[in-house]
Amino acid sequence: MDEIRIDNLKVYAYHGVLEKERKDGQFFYINAVLSLNLQRAGILDDLNASVSYADVCEWIIEMMQEKKCLLIEAVAEKIAIGILKRSEQIMAITLEVRKPEAPIDAEFESVSVCIHRKRHTAYVAFGSNEGDSINLIETGIAALDHDPMCRVVKFSEIYRSIPYGEVKQNDFYNGIMEVETYYEPEELLRMLQVIENEQGRVRTVHWGPRTLDLDIIFYDNLVYDSKTLQIPHPDAHNRDFVLAPMNSLEPNYRHPLLHLTVAEMLANITDTYVLSETKSGSSN
Ligand code: ATP
Ligand code: CA
Ligand code: CA
Repeated sequence: MDEIRIDNLKVYAYHGVLEKERKDGQFFYINAVLSLNLQRAGILDDLNASVSYADVCEWIIEMMQEKKCLLIEAVAEKIAIGILKRSEQIMAITLEVRKPEAPIDAEFESVSVCIHRKRHTAYVAFGSNEGDSINLIETGIAALDHDPMCRVVKFSEIYRSIPYGEVKQNDFYNGIMEVETYYEPEELLRMLQVIENEQGRVRTVHWGPRTLDLDIIFYDNLVYDSKTLQIPHPDAHNRDFVLAPMNSLEPNYRHPLLHLTVAEMLANITDTYVLSETKSGSSN
């Protein structure tokens, strides 16, 4: 992808762990590499098709001076996310904050942190069969949308489904949302668990009743496997209560491991859980 680069933008600001740094301030230097498509701007010779580096410099200075941070990690995070939010054309950013006057008792040129941040698209499934399910789901969606690192782009209708697994319990309300996020996968999971807990989630039996369950189904085209998180969700292709709502949003999304589209996986399902006659949550 094409890039706009800003080198060593010099900004006086008041970040640091020491009180003296936050009182007297010092110079910081910012390097930014913005990834975006510049072909149209080049062909048309038109700034409207690009991003003004003068504007970006202004945003950086403004964000550097808005609030005092303890760490340059926090400064870098704030600027990188702030720039991604201010311009939808920018797909990714590499941002370096250098601090040549850092209070270190040794000879050095500068210390710095360098971070890479990117827009991601995640599909997050929601499910509930305890409490005021519709309200819990709507509150959960709103909570995620209010998170500064996430934007709910669209969400499916709410489907009714019979419980998955052996535990005897109420029918479920299910659906899925498309989320634009700057969180890396583990951070997104952490945030979803905070929202589940805020909505009164208590983990008792696996696949048991729950006020709100939020699962990451897909995240870009990522295949990821850690102790705490698997992407794509390992059972998504067997669940019509995930695939049917997903099919209404993105039927052509291709499973990065199975290489089948959502529509194809849905067509392959033999065990159905969705109660098709009561598709809309509000009708029942
Ligand atoms: P299932 O994941 O089969 O739908 P569940 O949603 O009932 O079951 P939970 O008790 O909500 O299971 O979650 C158990 C653990 O699953 C979580 O603590 C989390 O670390 C892990 N996990 C692994 N992959 C994912 C994922 N893609 N989305 C959400 N949680 C996941
Ligand atoms: Ca689940
Ligand atoms: Ca879960």
